[in-house]
Amino acid sequence: MKRVLNKELNKHIGKSVKLCGWVNSRRDHGKIIFIDLRDRTGLSQIVFTSKCEPCGLSEKLRPEWVIEITGEVKKRPKGMINPKLETGKVEIKAENLKILSEAKTLPFAIDTSGFEINEEKRLKHRYLDLRRGRMANNLRIRQKVIHFMRDFLIKQEFTEIETPILTKSTPEGARDFLVPSRTGSGQFFALPQSPQQYKQFLMVAGIEKYFQIARCLRDEDPRGDRQAEHTQLDVEMSFTSQEEILNLTEELYTNLVKKIFPDKKIAKTPFFRMTYKEAMGKYKSDKPDLRKNKKDPNELAFAFITDFPMFEYKKGDKKWGAMHHPFTMPQTRDIKEIKKSPKDILAYQYDFVLNGYEIGGGSLRTIDLDILTAVFEVLGHKKEDIKKNFKNYFEAFSYGVPPHGGIAPGIDRFLSVVLNEPNIREVIAFPKTGDNRDLMMGVPSEVTQEQLKELHIKIAK
Ligand code: ASP
Repeated sequence: MKRVLNKELNKHIGKSVKLCGWVNSRRDHGKIIFIDLRDRTGLSQIVFTSKCEPCGLSEKLRPEWVIEITGEVKKRPKGMINPKLETGKVEIKAENLKILSEAKTLPFAIDTSGFEINEEKRLKHRYLDLRRGRMANNLRIRQKVIHFMRDFLIKQEFTEIETPILTKSTPEGARDFLVPSRTGSGQFFALPQSPQQYKQFLMVAGIEKYFQIARCLRDEDPRGDRQAEHTQLDVEMSFTSQEEILNLTEELYTNLVKKIFPDKKIAKTPFFRMTYKEAMGKYKSDKPDLRKNKKDPNELAFAFITDFPMFEYKKGDKKWGAMHHPFTMPQTRDIKEIKKSPKDILAYQYDFVLNGYEIGGGSLRTIDLDILTAVFEVLGHKKEDIKKNFKNYFEAFSYGVPPHGGIAPGIDRFLSVVLNEPNIREVIAFPKTGDNRDLMMGVPSEVTQEQLKELHIKIAK
């Protein structure tokens, strides 16, 4: 017999069906035992009576045991209808019961919001925490959002392309995660801080419209609500303009909210737009919260902040850094000016902001190699090193490169804001703790001496 899902039961009234799932709860009334059976689509009520012999086992059942039952789908008597359940008009009169797996008592409740439970405990047993309705729902909504983005971009002739995870350090401004190479003694891969250079190479390749649901890995010191790995919708286009990129982003998010979050109200369309200077002058922030009513959980105030400074002075390092990344195009083509007064140079750079959070950023890119060289010089690279360190980039751009630009909205932060979750861990299946540990897998962890030897690594005591 084919398995039927809880959500399908109303179609099977009067028929015998097979259901599989977890015991959500059990109520023992002596001669009659009720089980709420949970599967991925909901709950249903199973009735075991003493008339069903193989069901004698039902006395043993405990919460979270995994079972298979067969029985007849019956309409519930009038007074017994549960309007709160989709399956509340029916119940299953059990005819057979098979126990597929027993379960120990869970370390915490899964029928609550979960916020009352110590988070480390939840993360250690994340596979149980994800049984929680709120968490399962968050994962499904996440998938809907990603599906919508894919669909939207593919319809507009974007090509989805995967780029490598084992790659080379890219100057995105954070620390790299390094992976030792076994075959190249003393050499390392870096995990990508973003697919930035790859997507630009795809423009050189003539792809013109690229996107990827990309994992970005940055070994940042734990600060605030961040994760060492985050997911972004990475987009790049050739023969484009800042206006086109912002409009595309706006159209995508407007339609996405309408379709997936119909209860939400977008504070203003077209989205708020202001320059960095205006934002800092008026709100003292480059990610202002522009909601009319900050207490309204359904208001979404999207904004684009444009015209960022190209450089920022890093007091700690006593040198200039790129505000976004070095591949961003300065608004001037005057190389002398770029080198003379970095602080005055603006860039074709924009941030995407929602309710006071930065949810993405992007820029037009420099394709003029003299300007790119000047930018790297301001960043403290010696002229003779630049061509060497960024050889691949300089070479690629010498074979005919289209003007291009892109954006990369983050998916985790957007979801946590629209779902009114207090942090991004609530929308990520397997997040790490603030100090970057995965408590469920127990990593980071030590490796064997043999592995280290193969990698030519000695651990300094
Ligand atoms: N690579 C950039 C980032 O990850 C986004 C972009 O410039 O497209 O922030």
